[in-house]
Amino acid sequence: MKCFALFLALAGLSLPCFAVTADGAMWNSADNENSGYIALEEIRSFYKFMPIAQPRDRAGRAVGNGTVTLIFGPAPAELSIHGLRCELSHPTRSDDKGDLLVSRTDLLKLIDPVLRPTYITNRRPVRTVIIDPGHGGHDPGTVTDSIRESNVVLMVAGKLAAELKKRGMEVQLTREDNRHLSDQFRVDMAARAENAVFISLHLNKGRSDMRGAETYTAAPAEPGEEVRPVNEHDAANAALAVALQAAMVHRAEAKDGGCRRSRYSLLNSLSCPAALVELGYATHPEEAELLSSDEYQNRLALALADGISTFAGVMNPETQLKALPPPPPPPAEPAKVDAPVKKADTGNKKASPRKRRPAARKKSDSRRRK
Ligand SMILES: [Zn+2]
Repeated sequence: MKCFALFLALAGLSLPCFAVTADGAMWNSADNENSGYIALEEIRSFYKFMPIAQPRDRAGRAVGNGTVTLIFGPAPAELSIHGLRCELSHPTRSDDKGDLLVSRTDLLKLIDPVLRPTYITNRRPVRTVIIDPGHGGHDPGTVTDSIRESNVVLMVAGKLAAELKKRGMEVQLTREDNRHLSDQFRVDMAARAENAVFISLHLNKGRSDMRGAETYTAAPAEPGEEVRPVNEHDAANAALAVALQAAMVHRAEAKDGGCRRSRYSLLNSLSCPAALVELGYATHPEEAELLSSDEYQNRLALALADGISTFAGVMNPETQLKALPPPPPPPAEPAKVDAPVKKADTGNKKASPRKRRPAARKKSDSRRRK
């Protein structure tokens, strides 16, 4: 499987191109009790997906269309998008009939931006790629007998910057030597750059059997919650994370540790699309050896450059909209609703012309933030 084909396939080209914004106006919540959740059946029908039978030895529910497969589970907060692991903001639920319910936040701020990145309403062309090798100076990050995080990420950052420049992109490095930077310095650099995307590089640490690359983005804003500058890019962040993670897994052949929500204050302070990439575990002996090698660092840099290029491609409104077929005309009659169904507040202040029911303000009670 090739990551580039994978992500481009996800870029709306083979999916329904409904003339809706990703503000959730057309999605009905499952019922009052599960306000803020959408039935998987409704999601499946919207994307024209088919149910996919799962092997007996594998739990979870799967839907897809031959090009894209979504598998919910086996853990309630686990989603696989075409084989790529993604952590949900909220665990899925089941309704009285055993049907799966998916949170509106995960639908609108993870699934839809990944399946249809060209529908991200505030996308704008990437002008500057800011590459941030983490740590530096008196803060070496994770250090073991064989590896020093601040050095490895500096090496990969240099290779990545060179590759992106070769591809004609504007690149800035937060540091080019072993100096210490404050998070505020990094945030200010991103704020000064025009239409930046910010990629912070790190190595992970954990038990000696833990390995794999992980990509973190800021936790998305919840309905009714204050929208911080970083949350303006919730949808773009999801598309960025999946583009980077897919490239690392398929091009660099890194073990898939998944796209995850952030526990890092740096990401929460930025005001442009941003991701923090854990390239691998410094504490896994074999992976540490790999991460120290020039060959694997080159592979990671090329993979990340591909991920960034893919993201920059789908963020360009002009080129992508040309690639999409025109949306179908609106249906003559509104869809029938058998039982009264109330919508949850989407947190989006824009009124939608396609609203079918008045919004019922009810905050999700299962928020889980890192
Ligand atoms: Zn680190």
